[in-house]
Amino acid sequence: MRSPHTPWCLLLPWLVLIVAGTSTTLAEPRPAPRQTENVLLVTVDGLRWQEFFGGCDESLLSKEAGGVRDVPALRRRFFRNTAEERRETLFPFLWKTVAAQGQIFGDPTVGSSVRVTNGLFFSYPGYSEILCGFADPRIDSNDKKNNPNVTVLEWLNQKPNFTGQVAAWTSWDVFPWIINTERSGIPVDAGWSAVRPQVPASRRALLQTLADETPHLWENVRYDAFTIQAVFDFLEQQQPRVLFVSLGETDDFAHEGRYDLYLDAALRNDRMIERLWTHLQSLPQYAGKTSLVITTDHGRGDDRVSWKSHGKDLSQARFIWAGVMGPDTPPLGLREQLEATQSQIAATVAQLLGEDYHAAVPQAATPLPGVLRGSQGPAER
Ligand SMILES: [Zn+2]
Repeated sequence: MRSPHTPWCLLLPWLVLIVAGTSTTLAEPRPAPRQTENVLLVTVDGLRWQEFFGGCDESLLSKEAGGVRDVPALRRRFFRNTAEERRETLFPFLWKTVAAQGQIFGDPTVGSSVRVTNGLFFSYPGYSEILCGFADPRIDSNDKKNNPNVTVLEWLNQKPNFTGQVAAWTSWDVFPWIINTERSGIPVDAGWSAVRPQVPASRRALLQTLADETPHLWENVRYDAFTIQAVFDFLEQQQPRVLFVSLGETDDFAHEGRYDLYLDAALRNDRMIERLWTHLQSLPQYAGKTSLVITTDHGRGDDRVSWKSHGKDLSQARFIWAGVMGPDTPPLGLREQLEATQSQIAATVAQLLGEDYHAAVPQAATPLPGVLRGSQGPAER
């Protein structure tokens, strides 16, 4: 015989569940689950915050201060009347996409800074601080010596979910020592090294010929075009969860006092990063579940002479910049009134991947505050 109505004893458990679920949601909104499964970490060597936030610096638009060959042409290409226009002209992707959809740290005009804590303000100490999350006074030269510290890349690579899922491509040839490939086992494609065997043979021959027959302005830094091509080639074969790409030309053109070539390199880097990001979004492994973290190893001097250099005697070189964008990062844009440090990058990369690097390595700084949706950093309390 058919029952005329559903008995209460069957409905009650459902009602209890619905009411309980509703009250939890009202009391404490639960953040959406973390989406990031991959991180792309990019560095642009010695790129000043002055250009990152202000674009082309008019005081260096000359033959005397900036070694500029064609001043009117450079002015036409990069100079605009406001800082916002100038920076969007120099870094269209970083400002129109990363700043619009993510967060940018270090702009002094809104009371923010990102500070290098190692006190030396040159490359190896800077990259070690970025990758390890702390400054180590033993890292005091750019010599090819193995890093005694474990980078966040190596720390991740030791975890079962990340083993064999970490790789690096760098224009500067010292990175195999900074990342300590010998110990970490992380593949690092660095400098003018031989084109790798995983590149399809037909293209490998061409790339090797180009690398051999292109003039090398610097023996220890390959051109960024070769570095970025190596990333694309690698991605055809393997798709690691943690990609570290370190571009290098900006620093070298600045050392040579060529402001025109420095700006050109900066614009090319912006395009390369955009091209790589767009490519990643076309691959199922990365689309919608990859975060981008970008920063630099050191700043530079702040006047018409010292812009070319950096180091412990140039205290202005302590100030840098950083950016983060991805599915878990609230689009807060330019972060205001916030002091951050270079050492926070390592834990930020790990946090985006759901790992607590600071807890495991207390010496390392905490993640950048507010980068992960639902997480509150110290500066936001
Ligand atoms: Zn340098």
